[in-house]
Amino acid sequence: MIRWLMIFSVFIGCTGTKNDSSENKIENLIIVTTDGLRWQEVFKGMDSIIATNSKFNEGDSAYIFETYWGINEHERRKKLMPFLWKAIVDDGQIYGNRNYGNNVDNANPYWFSYPGYSEIFTGYPDTTINSNDHPSNPHITVLEFLNQQEKFKGKIAAFGAWEAFDRILNEQRSGIPVFSSFDSIGGVNPTSNEQLINEMLQNSHKPWLKAECLDVFTHYAAMEYLKNRRPKLLYIAYGETDEWAHAGRYRAYLDAGKQVDIWLKEIWDFIQNDPHYKNKTALFITVDHGRGDKEKEKWTSHNDMVEDSHEIWFAVMGPGIQAKGEIKDSMQLYQKQFAQTFAKMLGYTYKAEHPIAEEIKSIITQ
Ligand SMILES: [Zn+2]
Repeated sequence: MIRWLMIFSVFIGCTGTKNDSSENKIENLIIVTTDGLRWQEVFKGMDSIIATNSKFNEGDSAYIFETYWGINEHERRKKLMPFLWKAIVDDGQIYGNRNYGNNVDNANPYWFSYPGYSEIFTGYPDTTINSNDHPSNPHITVLEFLNQQEKFKGKIAAFGAWEAFDRILNEQRSGIPVFSSFDSIGGVNPTSNEQLINEMLQNSHKPWLKAECLDVFTHYAAMEYLKNRRPKLLYIAYGETDEWAHAGRYRAYLDAGKQVDIWLKEIWDFIQNDPHYKNKTALFITVDHGRGDKEKEKWTSHNDMVEDSHEIWFAVMGPGIQAKGEIKDSMQLYQKQFAQTFAKMLGYTYKAEHPIAEEIKSIITQ
């Protein structure tokens, strides 16, 4: 009897694993980050204490309340991110609501951007990566690893509003095109839309000088690439949520978050109406770090001196990923688990010379 059980379980084990990437339901992946958008707004909507503080409401709390207020947290979060709270609840999974003990955190001890993005893409909170000015990432990211796999070679691209993505993803070594800040797009043969985006980008308002462009350019450049060049893995990194928060402009911060939600819908609608991508493509959304909260005036900032700014969130949807909606189970997840999760979603096991945290099993195991 025991022998029969063993044979039976080996048989189940063989058919149940999905190591063969050719049979994977998820063939393409789109990763989106919006820099430093707090879980507090994502899960609870606008914060009325910040909105009524004249230091932060840009003299127009009426606009904030008219646009984002609702009778409870559920109403408020739907007003801020209607696509996320419809599509993810219906078809995906969203993690990070600490009110249920569903905790997602930076594993790195710094709680700012370069260490956060590096943790996302290497699965390794390397403590020597401790500055936004850090030179090119010494580690092979999961994007670079996938770019070495036959199916993904030359089919990965990244678009980031912030100039540091060239270094974070080690554009030079990885061979992955990284279009960051004021880089021109389209190469020697740009489409007419790419030409226009390049022109508008150069002639646009530059509130952060050369370090970062407005998100609108990053978004349309990425969409043009998605439509014309058909990447299998596309990374889009928006930055305005962080910049307006640092500037103490709560209205602009909320508007930037809402705009990202509108763009997530545009991306998803494109995917699901395109035969090349439809029902074969997953979407993963997250942030590099959180921001202050308990001391309300510190919502503008984030680093190891700002309590709570290690608190993050993420959402995922795609073929084969169970529709669990908002995850209300108590658990502890870390940003360092995302890299292996991306690889496993696509049917690979990410390997590199540095330690890599394990994938998030509740997404991968069906
Ligand atoms: Zn920041």
